[in-house]
Amino acid sequence: MKDQLIKFITSEYSDRVDIIKDADMKDHTTFRIGGPCDIALFPHDRNSFCTVLDFVNKNGIRYVVIGNGSNVLFSDEGFRGVVIFTTKMKSFSFEDDLLICDAGVQLTAVSVRAVKEGYDGFAFACGIPGSIGGAVYMNAGAYEGQISDILVYSDFYDPKTGKIERLYADDHKLGYRYSTYMDNDRIILGAAFRLTKADDPDSVLALMEDHVRARKEKQPLEYPSAGSTFKRYPGYFTAALIDEAGLKGYSVGGAQVSEKHAGFVINKGGATARDVLELIQIIKDKIYQNKGIHIECEVRYID
Ligand SMILES: Cc1cc2nc3c(=O)[nH]c(=O)nc-3n(C[C@H](O)[C@H](O)[C@H](O)COP(=O)(O)OP(=O)(O)OC[C@H]3O[C@@H](n4cnc5c(N)ncnc54)[C@H](O)[C@@H]3O)c2cc1C
Repeated sequence: MKDQLIKFITSEYSDRVDIIKDADMKDHTTFRIGGPCDIALFPHDRNSFCTVLDFVNKNGIRYVVIGNGSNVLFSDEGFRGVVIFTTKMKSFSFEDDLLICDAGVQLTAVSVRAVKEGYDGFAFACGIPGSIGGAVYMNAGAYEGQISDILVYSDFYDPKTGKIERLYADDHKLGYRYSTYMDNDRIILGAAFRLTKADDPDSVLALMEDHVRARKEKQPLEYPSAGSTFKRYPGYFTAALIDEAGLKGYSVGGAQVSEKHAGFVINKGGATARDVLELIQIIKDKIYQNKGIHIECEVRYID
């Protein structure tokens, strides 16, 4: 069936879907970890994305949709099936104060563009290395802002019906690093956001530059990672809990608790997914021992 998929794409969509066979997930994720998938596909627009989704769905081909790969850890054995990346779907437009984006639009690029167009509301996302699809999926946020503050609707493909539908903000059940997309297999095609006219775009831009500077100072951006490894536990700062547990700098193989920011597990060099998973378990166990609380992983493991 996978051969048929490649045949279908090369005969009808060769100029609108890129194909890489046996693509290594370490080359397509910010953690730089993960074995090969069978086929990686990169549709260029919503139409070809939906066609690919329809094909894999109707033919029972196992697949997963990935944006920038900045919040995932792929297994060392890779993924048996098709990985569909949205990163080439980069179209966005402004319709008055509504910003309409394809799933693959980069958060930093669109936040810079929005302020250049004179809008405020997206500044918080500058420096988050993800896509619109990944950000809606988990209600990404930083610096007092999050997707739920500005989301108007998202469009999705429903594998159960093969239909494209629209979900309005209230129906996303958006919470801290949570959306309803985490509980179903719907695929986000794009989303629209309500922005406001900035009184002083230069000061918004300056604020975004401050955010980027602060990230460079506080986060181990010099090493591959998937950002904060764990979710915040109510009433605690996870990085402080890990630090207090004496785990700053602790390593398993090539995976290490960053010495700069204990909330990040980094790939110090040659880390395997197994190293990372073992380190995560050690951290969870130690924190449970110390505080009696179960901290949860924010990073999604895919095998
Ligand atoms: C250095 C660094 C700093 C970070 N800082 C922050 C931060 O400040 N705040 C924050 O919230 N996050 C942060 N992150 C995490 C990450 O960038 C965000 O969670 C981002 O929103 C993930 O987007 P992505 O496109 O990379 O998603 P991916 O990692 O590609 O995917 C994440 C999940 O979303 C699903 N998904 C992706 N696209 C779709 C789609 N179109 N339809 C359905 N499901 C989809 C995937 O299947 C996967 O389960 C950081 C990460 C790094 C590496």
